[in-house]
Amino acid sequence: MKTIVKSYKIRIYPNKSLQDKLYKNFGYNRFVFNQLLNYNQLIFSLVVNNPRINPYNYIPKVNRSTLNNWLNVLKAEYFFLKDSESTSLQSTCDIFKDSMVRFFKHQNKFPRFKSRKNPIQSIRLKNNNNSIRFENNKLKLPRFGLIRYRDNRKIKGDILSCTVKCENNRWFAVLNCKNVPVSPMLKTGDNVGIDLGLKDLMIFSNGEKRKPITRLTKIEHQIAKLNKKLSRKVKGSNNWKKIVQKLQKLYNKVFDIRNDEYQKLSTELIKSFDLIGLEKLSVKNMIKNKRLSHSISQISWSRLVDMIKYKAEWYDKKCIQISKVFPSSKLCNKCGYKKEDLTLAIREWTCPKCRTKHDRDINASINILNEAIRINNECTTG
Ligand SMILES: [Zn+2]
Repeated sequence: MKTIVKSYKIRIYPNKSLQDKLYKNFGYNRFVFNQLLNYNQLIFSLVVNNPRINPYNYIPKVNRSTLNNWLNVLKAEYFFLKDSESTSLQSTCDIFKDSMVRFFKHQNKFPRFKSRKNPIQSIRLKNNNNSIRFENNKLKLPRFGLIRYRDNRKIKGDILSCTVKCENNRWFAVLNCKNVPVSPMLKTGDNVGIDLGLKDLMIFSNGEKRKPITRLTKIEHQIAKLNKKLSRKVKGSNNWKKIVQKLQKLYNKVFDIRNDEYQKLSTELIKSFDLIGLEKLSVKNMIKNKRLSHSISQISWSRLVDMIKYKAEWYDKKCIQISKVFPSSKLCNKCGYKKEDLTLAIREWTCPKCRTKHDRDINASINILNEAIRINNECTTG
């Protein structure tokens, strides 16, 4: 049977004293991260300002053994680190290393200092010798003991690590497991191309359209109202704090609803189709366009696309993303004519060459499907 690496995010309920202990550990790990960053920033600025040194030669210096040395130096100098859960400090070093590597690969910006004020705090514990396990219907973590949790799923596979998170006052454990068995889904013989839109969340090549989640509109109005109210209160006052708490709850609700809908939608797509063609979106570029930005960030496509991608991988289906430069909207899917002057405002057009009448989005999704099939054939034959 095929096995995969999978993360289970489960809600946990640490009591007050445990929460304090966890907060302290968030602090220790933040401290280590910021110290590493501080040190590296210093070196990096020296290197970058020296024209004779190629900064990229600097990468090999951030490796496991130098990080371990730094960690030992820090532990010797700052005694309070002795109270911390030790595998989490190692994980923090790993996280720091990864963010530096990503920076040098131009995948993200230079890492930033971690702040106590960030509403999301976390630490990652490693599972050594079964130190992370389920016991008496509770989750057992090294140094923290048993924690009450709620989740109906059966956690399968071997636990590699556990990230304990506090997100807007809610606590979670993300269990990263390997060797999780999955069985492939049945093949349906059906393929689909999907164009992602604003008015419609998804437009399928078979003409079907999916609306964005309507349940969210009401909550989003409430959020807008509260934000207005908040702006009129004195920052830090009791009334201000009350509204912030209310807002946090609503944000959590939005997250949950969206997550739930996206999980269902992505599973449905993977069940129904063998091959799913999608456009590679550069959300970053689109957010620059002010008028579009609000809706796009709200729809948060990238998370949905990620779900479709990893589920395709799990269940032996295919998700193929089309290059950004492929003119999916401008091509006529019947004859291949390219309409260069197609603007965003034009929703329907007729091909001047073969006279086919096109719905802009459906035409785009058919082109995406055709291109995905072409790429797939190339991969399988070449
Ligand atoms: Zn045509």
